[in-house]
Amino acid sequence: MIIELERGRQATLDQIRDLAVRFGNRVELSEGTGVYDTVHIIGDSREFASRESYILGLPGVRAAWQPTGGYKNIARVVRGNEGKALHRERRVVEVKGLDGKARRFGGGKHIFVCGPDSPQTLEQTLATARMAREVGEKFGILDRVMLRGGAFKPRTRPTDWRGLGMKGIAIMDAAREETGLPYVTEVMDQNLVEQIGAHADMLQIGTRNAQNFDLLEAVGRFGKPAILKRGFGNEAEEWFYSAEYIANQGNLDIVLCERGMKTLYTKGGYCRNQPDLNACTFARKQTILPIIFDPSHVAGDHRIVAENLMAACGHLVDGSITETVHTEAWRREQLCDAGQALVMDQYSILVEAVLEYETHVAPKMKAILRMLGTD
Ligand code: PEP
Ligand code: MN
Repeated sequence: MIIELERGRQATLDQIRDLAVRFGNRVELSEGTGVYDTVHIIGDSREFASRESYILGLPGVRAAWQPTGGYKNIARVVRGNEGKALHRERRVVEVKGLDGKARRFGGGKHIFVCGPDSPQTLEQTLATARMAREVGEKFGILDRVMLRGGAFKPRTRPTDWRGLGMKGIAIMDAAREETGLPYVTEVMDQNLVEQIGAHADMLQIGTRNAQNFDLLEAVGRFGKPAILKRGFGNEAEEWFYSAEYIANQGNLDIVLCERGMKTLYTKGGYCRNQPDLNACTFARKQTILPIIFDPSHVAGDHRIVAENLMAACGHLVDGSITETVHTEAWRREQLCDAGQALVMDQYSILVEAVLEYETHVAPKMKAILRMLGTD
């Protein structure tokens, strides 16, 4: 529900907030340009909305209306009947590290998530994490670097390596402890959200679980920031509805991630999935959520990770999640997604290229979009 409220009506705002909290909702206040502000009830607001007559009777309330779209919690523009519309700011999703620094997805600077597909040994994971930290220090962007590593692996074949489970989480914990960098890890089972989430700084929902609605709701209830990969066969709007499942539980700390569609896979390497870059732009226009790009699962081949990521920069993504190994020799040991991992020193060069793009080209791109009226 959307409520239009006279500016300065603090007592009424408090009453609205109390009612929202009673029904498990939160409020988001958007300052209007005139004398009215807009209060957006976040989460599943059906019970709240049943108190409409009480709300309309509160001092300073001009109107209360229902959004008509299907993803009103994450929509950039929330529309109602009779031409009503609420234009919202894009959201910044923060992930804090032990180093005290917040990684701000959507804060205007590219966030770099990197690390192994999966932690297999403490040594391998620590080595990669230390190198990630060095990259951050070298370019003065430590507050934009984060680790990744899947301890619970969704695999097409049941006999393939499926990750170390909670032992892998302990390794990721150790990498965070040593480097101060926060980490994201995949959760596949709604019953494990709390157990994994008690450790991880951010939870990842993989492409295969993008429409596992119970899992999405469990992550929404848990409340920690989440990366939601796009289902490899999902339309962009289906992806937004998946995000809405999380948001409807009151958790708006969602980062969307494009990782490619299933396509004509070439067995000789070069192209595992089709990157849908236009969907990145569409997500930026349609939702308030930050959008990042995964060049590794798109490429499936370390030889084409770099150009995929640079292409996504042209679509002004808010960050990237890239699979890396600490040495070329380790590639033979990596049990999942070995062929698509960048060695960390190559990754460092790629980070530099993204930073150069950000400084020299992105401002021009933004200027063009402003001229076209499409930013
Ligand atoms: C991963 O990040 O390792 C992964 C399994 O990704 P996706 O769900 O995009 O395949
Ligand atoms: Mn992987």
